[in-house]
Amino acid sequence: MCGIVAYVGSRDSVPVLLEGLARLEYRGYDSAGLAVLGRSGDLRIRKAKGRVADLAAELPARFKGGPGIGHTRWATHGEPSDANAHPHAVGPVAIVHNGIIENADELRTGLVARGAQFSSDTDSEILAHLIAEADTDLEEAVRSALTQVVGTYGLAVLDARQPDRLVVARNGSPVLLGIGEREMFAASDLSALVRYTRQVVHLDDGEVATVQADGFRTFTLDAQRTTKQPAVIEADLGSYEADGHAHFMHKEIHEQPQVVERVLRGRLDERFNTAHLGGLKMDAREARGIRRVKILGCGSAYYAGLLGAQLIEEMARIPADAEAASEFRYRNPVVEADTLYVGVSQSGETYDTLAAVQELTRKGGRVLGVVNTVGSTIARACDAGVYLHAGPEVSVTSTKTFTATATVFALLALHLGRIHDLSTADGRRISAGLRALPDQIAQVLAMEEEIASVAKELAQYRGMFFVGRVRGWPVAREGAQKLKEVSYLHAEAYPASELKHGPLALVGPELPTVAVIPDDELVEKNLSTLGEIRARRGRVAVVGHSAPDVKLADDFIAVPKNEPELDPILLSVPLQLLAYHAAVALGNDVDRPRNLAKSVTVE
Ligand code: GLU
Repeated sequence: MCGIVAYVGSRDSVPVLLEGLARLEYRGYDSAGLAVLGRSGDLRIRKAKGRVADLAAELPARFKGGPGIGHTRWATHGEPSDANAHPHAVGPVAIVHNGIIENADELRTGLVARGAQFSSDTDSEILAHLIAEADTDLEEAVRSALTQVVGTYGLAVLDARQPDRLVVARNGSPVLLGIGEREMFAASDLSALVRYTRQVVHLDDGEVATVQADGFRTFTLDAQRTTKQPAVIEADLGSYEADGHAHFMHKEIHEQPQVVERVLRGRLDERFNTAHLGGLKMDAREARGIRRVKILGCGSAYYAGLLGAQLIEEMARIPADAEAASEFRYRNPVVEADTLYVGVSQSGETYDTLAAVQELTRKGGRVLGVVNTVGSTIARACDAGVYLHAGPEVSVTSTKTFTATATVFALLALHLGRIHDLSTADGRRISAGLRALPDQIAQVLAMEEEIASVAKELAQYRGMFFVGRVRGWPVAREGAQKLKEVSYLHAEAYPASELKHGPLALVGPELPTVAVIPDDELVEKNLSTLGEIRARRGRVAVVGHSAPDVKLADDFIAVPKNEPELDPILLSVPLQLLAYHAAVALGNDVDRPRNLAKSVTVE
């Protein structure tokens, strides 16, 4: 789930690997390590629990080498420790692995019976034993090991007996090759490569590659050659720098006006007051035939999907809902031919979402991908796709990609709406609203100081409720998720109307509520909910359009008004700043929240 980086070429690989690992750090990890081949062909390994910077600081100056592999680990089998950190070596073979070997116990029992001795509790070490045991040409040995394995892997292998090459393989955990000038790179994520090359090759599941300085060959597990077309990726190295911001999360929150502008660019059609999404691959007749929209995603992608479903239902009057992809994939869903399924994933590698997409395509469902990372697995697995163009998101917690996803859904809703029942006048109104979003987001960001002071107050409590009605409800859910992720405060979201059906029992001076209250037809109902909370002496912070009576709220964060359908997008932004500043006030590692990782490539 975490990170792999590998290098073969004429440079000393150590700085290349360390730099790559540092760039992968944002994915969240608990240990790091390197294996390189020394000039005399000896295998050198350094690994430790903790940060890449600590590993680098401990490396002796003479720790240099030719080809090498590096790893950041997010423990799945065995606690974070020096022994469990990767690489794992058996004799001349060293491996780094992302993913999970499901039949680890069975394979370990067999290996032990054949005399293998294990030095870690990881499932990954099994791979090193199986490869070393095969004792043939490295590529063949890797293939033979992998045919015994059930599970997911992104794998890189080094063998001191074949010092001119690496072998890498992929199944369910991303691996890409980077092509340089007489040097080659491999990594689990583009961020580790962009400093060196823009020419990349994405491996597919079940592919193995032998990588040498002057090129690569790819095969299937049963040794059939495959052909790969290198892609040139557009990546801005600056996206991987914090640019003077204290945290990537802060930088990415502040990028949102430009991100939304990019999402909208070239997609609004003034003549017909509609939107066009290039990757939709659906003509008007097909779009008319859609009877239902089902959105699937995990975490913030799911919450953005809830917001999207509401936009589509409101504007296009097509029944739409969102579901956690992780639930959907396991419940043997009924797949309908006239439903448009939408898979949402920032990384395009989220395992549960990918599995849902694969299940859908297997059953003949039509799936649209809404993905940020170009060329990612989900983007390639869908029938059609819309890219977010939000640029790389480094902070583990999503901010700009949440907003970009919601904006893509607004465009999709406008497009479908104008084909179904949305009038020209309403189309014009929504288009104008969308165009106003970037400036209005900038206005929210300009209130950062005020929001930070509310955050500091709220951070003194042990937890809080987030409530909203209808349009405010997905906003409240994402707001609670953001707060939990980075502040570690308990936060729970409820539809405001549900409070009195149970959770109100918890409200009192020790449990504050953040209420999302747009000026829509439900404002009066929302104000009554505030009354119920205040009657129990609960603290209230309102995020909305009009200041409520001072008796009803302690704090008010004023958000500019857009069109009612689009307001939820804007209302989400102050909640990102609220979570960020609560986390900062509590002294947390904002960009790498504990226990979390950026792209969840395990089940
Ligand atoms: N399952 C392996 C372990 O626990 C790999 C984890 C990862 O993807 O970082 O070591």
